[in-house]
Amino acid sequence: MAGGWARDGAVSEQIEASINDELKRMQARKAPQGESLTHCAECEEPIPEKRRAALPGVKLCIDCQMERDGQQKQRGGINRRGSKDSQLK
Ligand SMILES: [Zn+2]
Repeated sequence: MAGGWARDGAVSEQIEASINDELKRMQARKAPQGESLTHCAECEEPIPEKRRAALPGVKLCIDCQMERDGQQKQRGGINRRGSKDSQLK
């Protein structure tokens, strides 16, 4: 006897809607910050569309990302970046 005027379907639709809402919020929170850059933040090389699609919020081109990862893993974060750029400019 849950009242003749409220369909069961309407109630579960409402629940589903709020779950979807919550999911969307969680996904937005989980995502890396904001939009992908079209050009690398380090060297200003264009970042390939595929890379941007695969890594939402990506900020670096593959070269700079690998260099940064490699430095962090192998050299404990010695800061060498910039030297390459200043020669090119
Ligand atoms: Zn780069």
